[in-house]
Amino acid sequence: MATTAWAPPTEKLELVRAFMDERVLPNEHALDREDDAADALVAQLRQEVKDAGLWAPHVPPEAGGTGTGFLDYAYLNEQIGRVVWAQLIFGCQAPDAGNAEILHMFGTEEQKERWLHPLVAGEIRSFFSMTEPEVPGSDPTTLRTRAVRDGDEWVIDGHKWFSSGAEGAAFAIVMAVTDPDAEPHARASQIIVPVETPGVDIVRPVAVMGHAGRGWSTHCEVRYTGVRVPVANTLGEVGAGFRIAQKRLGPGRIHHVMRWLGQMQRAFELMCSYSLQREAFGEPLARKQTVQNWIADSYAEIQACRLMTLDAAHKIDGGDEARVEVSAIKFFAARVLQDVIDRAIQVHGARGLTDETPLAHMAMMARGGRIYDGPDEVHRQVVARRILKAFASGDVWHFS
Ligand SMILES: Cc1cc2nc3c(=O)[nH]c(=O)nc-3n(C[C@H](O)[C@H](O)[C@H](O)COP(=O)(O)OP(=O)(O)OC[C@H]3O[C@@H](n4cnc5c(N)ncnc54)[C@H](O)[C@@H]3O)c2cc1C
Repeated sequence: MATTAWAPPTEKLELVRAFMDERVLPNEHALDREDDAADALVAQLRQEVKDAGLWAPHVPPEAGGTGTGFLDYAYLNEQIGRVVWAQLIFGCQAPDAGNAEILHMFGTEEQKERWLHPLVAGEIRSFFSMTEPEVPGSDPTTLRTRAVRDGDEWVIDGHKWFSSGAEGAAFAIVMAVTDPDAEPHARASQIIVPVETPGVDIVRPVAVMGHAGRGWSTHCEVRYTGVRVPVANTLGEVGAGFRIAQKRLGPGRIHHVMRWLGQMQRAFELMCSYSLQREAFGEPLARKQTVQNWIADSYAEIQACRLMTLDAAHKIDGGDEARVEVSAIKFFAARVLQDVIDRAIQVHGARGLTDETPLAHMAMMARGGRIYDGPDEVHRQVVARRILKAFASGDVWHFS
C-alpha cells in the first residue's frame, strides 16, 4: 500500500509469503486428500510455523499468539488465504479463531486456563454451535435451544447444525436461551460445553455441496439432550449471548474476507496464466476480448475488495466497530470471490472442473461465503439501514 497509515508488516509478510510458496503450495494436493497422511503433514507444518514465530497471527502474545493488530493480520491472512488449508497450518482457522477471541475478551481466568490456552496452542479444537435447522439462522432471536438453571448447573436441550469443525473437537461454545421472557436480545447466553459431557451427540457431518469433510472441515448436526455443565461455564454474563456474538462475528467476517482475498488472487493468477497458454481458433485465449474483460473486471473488483478490507481493518485498529464497512465488504467480497473463481473455471474449460487445478474445490468453498456469518441480504440491509438513518436525521453519509 502506498500510504504509511496502511503500511504492511513487511518482514513478517515476507516470511509468511515464503512459507506459503515453499511449504504449503507444493503440498496442496496432499493436503486436499484429507486422509491420515494429510493430518500428519498438517501437524508437521504447524510445528514449522511455530518454530518460525508465525503461529496464531490473529491474537496477541498475551493470548498465546503472535498478532499485532487487524491491519497487519489482513496482509498476512491475504497470503495465508491462498490455500484453503493454510489457516489450519497457521493456527488461525475458523471457528477456533473467533472462539479464541471471545474467550480472550470475556473468559474468566479459569476458562482461559482450561480452554483458551490449549486452543490457541493448537492442542485442541472447538466449535461454535448457534444455527438450528428448525429456525432461521438470519434471525437468531428465534433460537430454540434452552439452558435451564438447576442449582449450580445449566441443563441444555437443543438441536443444532452447521456446527463447523465439531468432529474431533474438545468443546463447543453453545448459544442457548437462558431467559425466554427477557427482551429478544437479552434472552440467550453462550455456554462452554465439553464434548465428552453426557447428552452431547455429534450426530453426523452434514455434506455440503457433496463434501462431508473430516475433522476440522466438517459441518455437523449436533443434539444436546439434558446436557449438564456448571453455571461457571457461562461465557461473559448471563443474557449477554448476542452482545458476545456480535463481538465474535464482526472480526470473524473480516477474517473470512482477508482469506478470500488470497483465494481471489489465486484464481486470478490461474486465469491469466492459462489464458496465455491455451490457444483456440489460432490465438491464445488472452487475445479474446471476453477474456480480457474478465481479467480487467476481476482486477478492478479484487483491488476494490483489498482496499475496502484494509480500510475496515485500519478503522477497527483505531477502535471503530466499522459495522457498515464490515457488512459492505462481507457481501461485496463474497460475490467477487465467486465471480472471479467462476471466470477462472470458464477460461480453463472442462479442466477447470477437475481436480487438476484447485479451482473446483475453491468454488465449492466459496459458495458458502454468501450465507455463513449472515447472508448477503442481511448485510445489505445493515448497510442500507445505517445509511438511511443518517439521511432520515437530516444528515448525509460521510464517506471516509
Ligand atoms: C459453510 C458454512 C459454515 C457454517 N458454520 C457455522 C458454524 O460454525 N456455527 C453456526 O452456528 N452456524 C454456521 N453456519 C450457519 C450460518 O451461519 C447460517 O446458515 C446463516 O446464519 C443463515 O441461516 P439459515 O441457513 O438458517 O438461513 P435463513 O435464515 O433461513 O435464510 C434463508 C435465506 O433467506 C434470505 N433472507 C434471510 N434474511 C433476509 C432478509 N433480512 N432480507 C432478505 N432476505 C433474507 C437469504 O437469502 C437467506 O439465504 C454455517 C453455514 C455455512 C454455509
